[in-house]
Amino acid sequence: MSGFKLAIDGPAGSGKSTISKLIATRLGWTHIDTGAMYRAVTLEALELGIDLHLESSYLFLESMLIHYDNDRIYIDDKDVTEEIRQHQVTQNVSLVSSFPYVRKKMVELQKKAATKGMIVMDGRDIGTVVLPNADLKIFLTAHIEERAKRRYKEDVNKGKKVNIDQVIEDIGTRDIKDSTRETSPLKKAKDAIELDTTHLTIDEVVEKIIIQVNKKLENLVNYS
Ligand code: C5P
Repeated sequence: MSGFKLAIDGPAGSGKSTISKLIATRLGWTHIDTGAMYRAVTLEALELGIDLHLESSYLFLESMLIHYDNDRIYIDDKDVTEEIRQHQVTQNVSLVSSFPYVRKKMVELQKKAATKGMIVMDGRDIGTVVLPNADLKIFLTAHIEERAKRRYKEDVNKGKKVNIDQVIEDIGTRDIKDSTRETSPLKKAKDAIELDTTHLTIDEVVEKIIIQVNKKLENLVNYS
């Protein structure tokens, strides 16, 4: 098997990144978190102090180097893995990622990163835009209260000061912005398998997806 592309999409807090990372570790595959890339652009935009509402401000992307490796993300060789999780970045990332120019640049990078090998890529538009020919597409969902509870616990474990109502509001706002934007909105691909994770543990979700991966791998081997 020379390559396999697994696309995992879903809204904020659906567990995409955690689950994708675990699947990649279990299978020895490469994981690419595309949300981290949009967050890195947002962090840089905030640091540069540009007008976030103006698409032409993002021309700095022509010379910015974003590098994703082993679940760490770098801007021009600086590791920003922790910084991209700041509240200010989370609040602005849906705006930044709504610009067609920003998306075009990120999608180019993402397609390139997935050309070779066994890849698990997670995001909002992976099955629809970035990897329309992915070997397997999964769309994760969960009730908003459950997604907010997960994000809240994650933040508390990281020692962050958070308020559950604020987390519900942030996630709700991002849901609306991500699914109503004009360019590549968050949407289930027609051929994606939808998995509601509200009442499932992380391990159960990982197990269900790995069963689907193995089924696909068997088919690919039988028909090749
Ligand atoms: O996955 P995460 O919540 O870190 O993503 C942060 C934001 O990046 C999302 O709310 C969305 O606005 C944007 N995003 C996107 N397309 C992707 C991945 C993330 O627009 N493929």
